[in-house]
Amino acid sequence: MTVERQSKKITCGYCQAENNIPPFASVVTCEFCGTPNELQTGKTFQNHHMLNVFFSGSELTELVPQYLSKFVGVPSDFADKAVFKDFELRMMPFWMFKFHGHTDYQGIGKYVSPNQGSHWSRNINILTRPERGSIDLDQTCLIFGYKEQHREIRDEKIPVGSKEAFDINSVNKEGGQIYDTEIGYNEAYAIAEAQVKNRHNQLIFREISKLDGIKQDIDMKEVSYLHVPFYRVKYNYGNWEGEALVDAARGKVLRAEYPISRTHRFWGMMSVIIGLALIALAVIFIIDVFSIQWEIAGYVAAVVFGGLLIFGLKETLTKKKVAAE
Ligand SMILES: [Zn+2]
Repeated sequence: MTVERQSKKITCGYCQAENNIPPFASVVTCEFCGTPNELQTGKTFQNHHMLNVFFSGSELTELVPQYLSKFVGVPSDFADKAVFKDFELRMMPFWMFKFHGHTDYQGIGKYVSPNQGSHWSRNINILTRPERGSIDLDQTCLIFGYKEQHREIRDEKIPVGSKEAFDINSVNKEGGQIYDTEIGYNEAYAIAEAQVKNRHNQLIFREISKLDGIKQDIDMKEVSYLHVPFYRVKYNYGNWEGEALVDAARGKVLRAEYPISRTHRFWGMMSVIIGLALIALAVIFIIDVFSIQWEIAGYVAAVVFGGLLIFGLKETLTKKKVAAE
């Protein structure tokens, strides 16, 4: 692979085709053969996998309204009147690591001595004793490829068991757009290894309170650069516009925006008015009972009134987007 920084292009280390370097990317997946090229080292990765697309984008026109029908405030005619447009299939990058970790440790454990003392007083003696033990764990770590962007995808539980070899033809057939990782292999490895060590430490400090010695072997058993498909779709309901994010490997809606129905807005406004009336009554009552100065009470009431009114109007009148997650 050759990198020409000025032109922001790289030559694929496998098929020699020229590819553009997207901003942020530390790996570039060749758009012709699907081979990932690491910018910093010039290496290509062999272990490149993907999850297959489970359903076509046109099925979103049923899936999204069906999902939203469970939420309060969605207009009852949303399924009929929503107009879907701009389907986008994004192949999002993850690093997947499988580790086997072994830790031998020794330290000081604490234990509570058996019941001592009389009927009336009970002494709880916390004693210490040296302890040793070992931990054996297989762990799978999934590191999302972006630091700040695409946060909504970061914590998704990805069913890595169903991964298959990456196939550029099947991605192109579905019209998928490949997104490449910002976090390079070394950085991802360090994050994953730290997660494994943390887990071991948690387990150790359940058993002992002071660590005297530790011997740790963390072996990486498998690594994969993994592309996971997500749909992003935009839709209109009258003049209102919103969007949804759907896990395309499982057909699961992750988040979908919806407009608030007129009825729901009306009752929202009514509850604000009732709330204002109740506050007015409460203020009058407090002034009456505690004979607080009218002037101070007036200021307090005005602030509360104003705040609630602005909040209520904003909630009621704006065509706001609510995200169902
Ligand atoms: Zn290539």
